[in-house]
Amino acid sequence: MDFFDEGTPCGVLTAEPLGRVLDYLAPEGGVWVGAFVEVPLGPRRVMGVVWGAAEGSFPRAKLRAIIRVLDAVPMRAELRAFLARVADYTLTPLPAMLRLATRVPDLGSGPATRKLLYRSDSPPARITEAREKVLAVFDVFGGAGLTPGELAQAAGVSSAVVRGLVQAGALLEREALRDQPYPRLDPLRAGAELSEDQAQAAARLAAGVQSGAYGTTLLKGVTGSGKTEVYLEAIAACLAQGRQALVLLPEIALTSEFLTRVEKRFGARPAEWHSGVTLSERRRCWHMVGQGAAQLVVGARSALFLPFRDLGLIVVDEEHDSSYKQEEGVLYHARDMAVLRAAMSGGQVVLASATPSLETWANARAGKYARLDLTARFGPNTLPEMRAIDLRAEDLPSGRWVSPTLQQAVTARLAAGEQALLFLNRRGYAPLTICRACGHQVECSDCDARMVEHRFLKRLVCHQCGATAPMPVKCPACGAEDRLAPVGPGVERLEEEARALWPDARVAVLSSDLFGSARALKDQIAVIAGGEADIIIGTQIVAKGHNFPNLTLVGVIDADLGLSGSDLRAAERVFQLVRQVSGRAGRADKPGRALVQTSQPDHPVIRAILSGEEEAFWQSESAQREALRMPPHGRLAGVILSAPAMEPAFELGTRLAQADAPLRAIGAQVFGPAPAPIARIRGMHRVRLLVKAPKGAALQAAVAAWIKPHKLPRGLRLAVDIDPQSF
Ligand code: ADP
Ligand code: ZN
Repeated sequence: MDFFDEGTPCGVLTAEPLGRVLDYLAPEGGVWVGAFVEVPLGPRRVMGVVWGAAEGSFPRAKLRAIIRVLDAVPMRAELRAFLARVADYTLTPLPAMLRLATRVPDLGSGPATRKLLYRSDSPPARITEAREKVLAVFDVFGGAGLTPGELAQAAGVSSAVVRGLVQAGALLEREALRDQPYPRLDPLRAGAELSEDQAQAAARLAAGVQSGAYGTTLLKGVTGSGKTEVYLEAIAACLAQGRQALVLLPEIALTSEFLTRVEKRFGARPAEWHSGVTLSERRRCWHMVGQGAAQLVVGARSALFLPFRDLGLIVVDEEHDSSYKQEEGVLYHARDMAVLRAAMSGGQVVLASATPSLETWANARAGKYARLDLTARFGPNTLPEMRAIDLRAEDLPSGRWVSPTLQQAVTARLAAGEQALLFLNRRGYAPLTICRACGHQVECSDCDARMVEHRFLKRLVCHQCGATAPMPVKCPACGAEDRLAPVGPGVERLEEEARALWPDARVAVLSSDLFGSARALKDQIAVIAGGEADIIIGTQIVAKGHNFPNLTLVGVIDADLGLSGSDLRAAERVFQLVRQVSGRAGRADKPGRALVQTSQPDHPVIRAILSGEEEAFWQSESAQREALRMPPHGRLAGVILSAPAMEPAFELGTRLAQADAPLRAIGAQVFGPAPAPIARIRGMHRVRLLVKAPKGAALQAAVAAWIKPHKLPRGLRLAVDIDPQSF
């Protein structure tokens, strides 16, 4: 049933934390399923969506009526079904899904019109306001309409002045569209002339889009091979069919370069959806997407939950990037949910990467995803030559991290007027602050993490919770004065070393925490791309697809970082990161080189990185995981119990581990309880149980049945993490 006549019961989903689908009576004039409505909940009025038939769990005589139907375009059946599927997949309550899909200000007022002020053409009758104020007001008009508030603010006058001008007839009030439509993208404009490989890949993707059916393709291409040009053609095919397209990027800082490329290709900029856009832009995007008036959206993972009318293509760029996994609130992986959404809407997915995740590689190998390879860089560009620097053979005094061999190479590049990048995936000055008198390490009081010295901020920072503290003068443990010393390198310390080694070079640091805003980070990237820096020092943020045309040398300071540790994914991560960052070298007409500092040049991962024998690397990783029945050859679910104290979390964890019958019924095993990968954060202790199930098992249902009988003690929180990324 799609329509509920006035007075008939229907089920309404609200976004309230403890909410669920509740029954209400349809209002005067009836209501369609999917409509956004306002309903009474206790003494309050809250927003909800008519979700479907009444649950019937409440006597009809006691039902309250929907207060009003909101203006917003009703939520389409496809999106409702998608939210329900994601809720089932991630074991998330539906209200949390609704919150995710309605993160837009002022949703209720809809896409309709509002009153804007315009400048009158005819001479005003009589103006009593001071002349300069009037001029100020007239000055800010560029023909576009403004609200009285916007106008007063822009002109720097009071709202009384604006009102006076309206009364005098100098300003006219007119109804205008609340949200300006986006300029049209023209898919028929000519794109770049593609190489033969690119053209073939583009044709395959376009054919997929034109089929109108679901399909996922891994677009694997070395950095600089022109993957973006290729998937722009798939977008063109999608837009030409009148369907909408979505491009997900892992990093806001990457959007501006991408927007420029879209503008060049299609003649206008697309809609944007991420934490960096203003509230009114979010509003505009959400409503325009819902009306089908936004053809292309570029966004962060949550753009997946926008109310597209007809989504024909989703591109997940840098698909291996770990930031696609949301680790708070609803724990979902945007790449996997993109595939789910496309399967439900009959769309295509393009997963683009130079170093795909093992999961995607395996899906392509198993034939679940198609695979297209771009093996060479576009044009005459060649891939960087990769070499190891064996740190055991280098004369490197303690407190220094740039080996003589690397130093020489950088000096040569600088002499040639080119840029060099020193890569170290550690923010701050030094990862450790140790007391030389007693050996005490300064730790965060709320987390299981060390405090990291940041000289730039002149403070200690906890990288887990963000807490900061002044640099202590005395050791907090033994009280010794001036004995606290930094141990190990961070990018800020590396910067110090670089300035000492190359005093005449312009050094720029690229680290996410040095920039208060996405804008400042963008500016810094532009400075580097424009050639206004000689040496770039960066954390993993530089590995993410920025184009620095004059960069010819990449020095990896410590390739061994991350190789130790028990995480089974460590090898994959190091491989991706070092290959990605090395790929930054030599993009334009200058050949590039990557020098990788390591103390274990014979380690299989380091060897795979240097040889570039990727297929062999993935096969061996895949075989190791298969032997252990770990993803992608098995399935995992994490259950995280967190509480202000450790004991109750461990206690419940132990009880859960013992009551594992529902898990054994599907052939699954449970491990733990053990301290979670983040064992304490913001004063909460975290304990994890890990469920390992065979590949085809009904994991979610079993986990739900397993947890359900256990009552949570007060203050204890339980979160399920399906497909955890650390294991
Ligand atoms: P990837 O995403 O694979 O790293 P890009 O699509 O960013 O590669 O392309 C790398 C560089 O090569 C970019 O500067 C891009 O403009 C250029 N390029 C790629 N393909 C073409 C083409 N067919 N014609 C002109 N320039 C191209
Ligand atoms: Zn902390």
